[in-house]
Amino acid sequence: MRLRNVPGSRDVIAESPYTIKDETSRKGKWNEIFGNDNPIYIEIGMGKGQFIMELARRNPDRNYVGIEKYSSVLVRALEKQEEEQLPNIYFIRMEAEYIADVFDKDEVSGIYLNFSDPWPKDRHAKRRLTSVQFLERYEKILKVDGHVIFKTDNRDLFDFSLEQVEEAKNWELLNHTFDLHNSEYVEGNIMTEYETKFVAKGNPICRMEIVQKSR
Ligand code: SAH
Repeated sequence: MRLRNVPGSRDVIAESPYTIKDETSRKGKWNEIFGNDNPIYIEIGMGKGQFIMELARRNPDRNYVGIEKYSSVLVRALEKQEEEQLPNIYFIRMEAEYIADVFDKDEVSGIYLNFSDPWPKDRHAKRRLTSVQFLERYEKILKVDGHVIFKTDNRDLFDFSLEQVEEAKNWELLNHTFDLHNSEYVEGNIMTEYETKFVAKGNPICRMEIVQKSR
């Protein structure tokens, strides 16, 4: 991702009522933040937040948490949220590796991964958000019938992810497509910022939906 330092973005994040700062102390208590027991869905690597904010608008009976490691992009989502003040979405600036310190077992009903960083070098494979290592972290927070939905235009990353689902044993591929925009799964699809750019270039978008087999 092209990173531009946005001056003051760390301060904006620190002061925003829509970011959660003490995220590890919220583990098991996210319903208190939202003030209801509605199901919680998260997007890891949400960038500027177009996708997850549209989900929040369309589904007022669901709660959303957007996770992003870089303040310079997260701040763009906060600007939109300052205007809209959607009651069912909060944001965390954090590295997703520690996700199981932030949510409790069964606290999350679904996980979205959109155009995740490819980490093309083999030695960095475990940093990919669909690696076996990350799938194990998701098992610690996701309800057993909760889905992980992953979109990317990067075919190598997608093929790797299909292999990881096999290797992880406890995960099952529910459906997948190598060309989302010419498939049945496009209905109701919400475009992300990256998706908009890649579709305009004519890149096919891959999408998979996976679920845990059991516990
Ligand atoms: N989902 C957005 C952005 C895709 S770029 C879209 O589709 O338009 C990938 C984003 O994921 C970047 O903003 C990057 O900073 C973030 N990211 C990648 N790895 C991450 C990690 N381990 N923890 C948190 N955020 C991560």
